[in-house]
Amino acid sequence: MTVQAPASVRSLAAAYTCGHCNSEPAQLTQDTSGVWRLAIGHDAGCPVLTGAVPDTPDVLRAMQEHQ
Ligand SMILES: [Zn+2]
Repeated sequence: MTVQAPASVRSLAAAYTCGHCNSEPAQLTQDTSGVWRLAIGHDAGCPVLTGAVPDTPDVLRAMQEHQ
């Protein structure tokens, strides 16, 4: 059974873009606890993917855009 994420979650996911690569559109999944998770398809070698830089600025930017 597929449950659609709430509009606020979908809006945030749509607003997220990586500031360091041409990331694939985010995929939303819901875990068994009901928590929505956003999987970002970063390009190979992206500094966010390797952990060299945090994704916090991209998350904050997405939060600001989806309001
Ligand atoms: Zn990236």
